[in-house]
Amino acid sequence: DILRTPGAVRDAERWTAHNYHPLPVVISSAEGAWLTDVDGRRYLDCLAGYSALNFGHRHPQLIAAAHAQLDRLTLTSRAFIHDQFADFCRELAELCGKDLVLPMNTGAEAVETGIKVARKWGYQVKGVPAGQANIVVAEGNFHGRTTTIVSFSTDEDARADFGPYTPGFTVVPYGDLAALTAAIDENTVAVLLEPIQGEQGVVVPPEGYLPGVRQVCTDRNVLFIADEIQSGLGRTGATFACDHEGVVPDMYLLGKALGGGIVPVSAVAANADVLGVLKPGQHGSTFGGNPLACAVAIEVVRLLATGEFQRRSAELGERLRAGLEGLVGRGLVEVRVRGLWAGLDIDPALMSGREACERLAARGVLAKDTHGSTIRLAPPLVITEEEIDLAVTALAEVLTA
Ligand code: PLP
Repeated sequence: DILRTPGAVRDAERWTAHNYHPLPVVISSAEGAWLTDVDGRRYLDCLAGYSALNFGHRHPQLIAAAHAQLDRLTLTSRAFIHDQFADFCRELAELCGKDLVLPMNTGAEAVETGIKVARKWGYQVKGVPAGQANIVVAEGNFHGRTTTIVSFSTDEDARADFGPYTPGFTVVPYGDLAALTAAIDENTVAVLLEPIQGEQGVVVPPEGYLPGVRQVCTDRNVLFIADEIQSGLGRTGATFACDHEGVVPDMYLLGKALGGGIVPVSAVAANADVLGVLKPGQHGSTFGGNPLACAVAIEVVRLLATGEFQRRSAELGERLRAGLEGLVGRGLVEVRVRGLWAGLDIDPALMSGREACERLAARGVLAKDTHGSTIRLAPPLVITEEEIDLAVTALAEVLTA
């Protein structure tokens, strides 16, 4: 019974705002792809902190970097330069193939930074009239929870009753290049997209869409901003989801796994002609680019620079795909898999996504529903073949029980 820890579950409900509906498990430790609860029960982690734990829990190289940094220096603010800062920015810029990096903390802050940079670029470089800058975004997007970001959400739960809303965004259907092209005018400064929509259920756009977006952005002097906060850093079997179609955006928005599951770290990477529009005093964050964050994130970038995690994700993802496709018609209506990232649509007549996740938890596998009957699987990239089989078997049992 996964409700064996009612005290802690009830206390959590009692003392926090109910802005989440967590599964009733109470985790106390973790290693690699495995979590242990307060009663010693083990669970295979198939969510990985919404892709913030791509390298697994407590990766030794990341933990060592964090420990070493905790013993030396944790915070300076950006008023001073610290000895981890330049290495982090240079190594991440090189991984991204960009000139510059601007570090922040959360994903939403990276998105806000991208929006602010695009607007300033629009006024100062493109010559858009004051106050007229517009950004094209996609239906079904998820870019975070700030008031500006929820202003262009199409999810009523995320948006309703948080107005007045920030103007300056046009929403077009995701994956429809003609609609996106038609929405661009002389005041458009950017197109902001997830190359794969994670929260929407790992929705992959039609082949050719991302290269088409790249082309129209180039042709119309519009910045292509790729929100790779969930899709990037190895998750899809490549460093960036954009890589699968050979697309290079003008701005990468990164977060989640960049902090190695230890500290919140996000960043914007772009060339100097774009990020160079920011001058002292125009943007910042007390904790952005702090020494602890940089020390951990440097090691994250080094892990990615080996290519091992991208390779694992690509290879193991094929095993995950094969397992899940075997369940289509046997409880699953559709699966979408890119690397170790899968969106599963459960037959709604069978059960909700929430119910499926509760039943999976009872079998020792933790995943989370996203919308209705859709579940997303995003295990740590350190997961093994046997563990993937274990997750697929548990899912098959849940769907047929
Ligand atoms: N962008 C994408 C694509 C995301 O998936 C998320 C989080 O799920 C965010 C932005 C927001 O990140 P954070 O929760 O760190 O603000």
